Amino acid sequence: MKSYRIATLGSHSALQILKGAKDEGFETIAICEKGRVQPYEHFKVADRIIELDSMKDLPKVVKDLKKENAIIIPHATFINVFDQKVIEKLDINYFGNRKILNWEADREKQREWLKKAGLTLPKIFKNPEDIDGPVIIKFFGARGGKGFFLAKSAEEFYKKIEEHHGTKYIIQEYVVGAPMYIHYFYSAINDEVEVMSFDKRYESNVDSIGRIAAKDQLDLGLDTSYNITGNVPVVVRESLLPEIFKMGEGVISASKKLEKHGLIGPFSLETVITPELKFYVFEISARIVAGTNPFINGSPYTALRYKEPMSTGRRIAREIKNAIEKNQLDKVLL
Ligand code: AMP
Repeated sequence: MKSYRIATLGSHSALQILKGAKDEGFETIAICEKGRVQPYEHFKVADRIIELDSMKDLPKVVKDLKKENAIIIPHATFINVFDQKVIEKLDINYFGNRKILNWEADREKQREWLKKAGLTLPKIFKNPEDIDGPVIIKFFGARGGKGFFLAKSAEEFYKKIEEHHGTKYIIQEYVVGAPMYIHYFYSAINDEVEVMSFDKRYESNVDSIGRIAAKDQLDLGLDTSYNITGNVPVVVRESLLPEIFKMGEGVISASKKLEKHGLIGPFSLETVITPELKFYVFEISARIVAGTNPFINGSPYTALRYKEPMSTGRRIAREIKNAIEKNQLDKVLL
């Protein structure tokens, strides 16, 4: 085990991933953009820092990383910086199943996956003329919700879409309820889905609009935006847990039908729970999400299951450690 190192790009959930790896006894490498090194130095999570002019230069240091027996842990920044095809070809140990990324990146394929998993999804409107209630317009690519807007008629949609000329979007039914982001971990070694934690997001400006009176909101002509600035931990109503386990297990068994070996490691379902306590799932992230960051020291759920503080980042390192000990690394690096 001592011969392996855990590496990740210095952004998103790297502090958690690297700290978790150190707690499990691995040496760690942070790959940072010039000028963005300070957090990784200051919090002492990296045994080595590689500085690049741009994240896009990662392929230039892949040989070096391979020599050090580095295992790269993907997160949203990694997936945004590199095309699917580049990731598939990177000659490096990669935690998880790269093939599943295809199913996350394409919104149509994502829907197919979630439906196969037996989940309830918000309706999609192909034709703006069909809008018959509140909808949210989302742009492609994980841009963190920036610019997403609401509409309730075709007329309003056309007016608001003008300033986003040429950008790819979808029109989705807006489900009024409580947002709940569920963090899971699927262990390919134990063949088990674990519930790690929950969060909700802290978004600008939507989470501050309620601080001013409705009249002022109208007078100021405010539009909502959903640009993410942070994450807030949540503990879920306990009676919802059986359903939550069932949803996670459905996602894993569907993933195995879509792609050999299916999804491996952490994933998240983005949901809204209606007043009738029905889950609408509007997105899946097939990797660690930043919503796990409040739980570097473990969550209430990992505290039930583990003796030590178990973050999702540490759980990844634990999985790699278990795989090494059982000589089953090929089950988790795909
Ligand atoms: P996303 O970037 O897809 O996670 O969405 C950004 C924000 O929009 C989050 O705060 C979600 O809670 C909210 N949201 C996204 N889709 C829906 C939906 N279909 N109904 C209600 N809220 C949504």
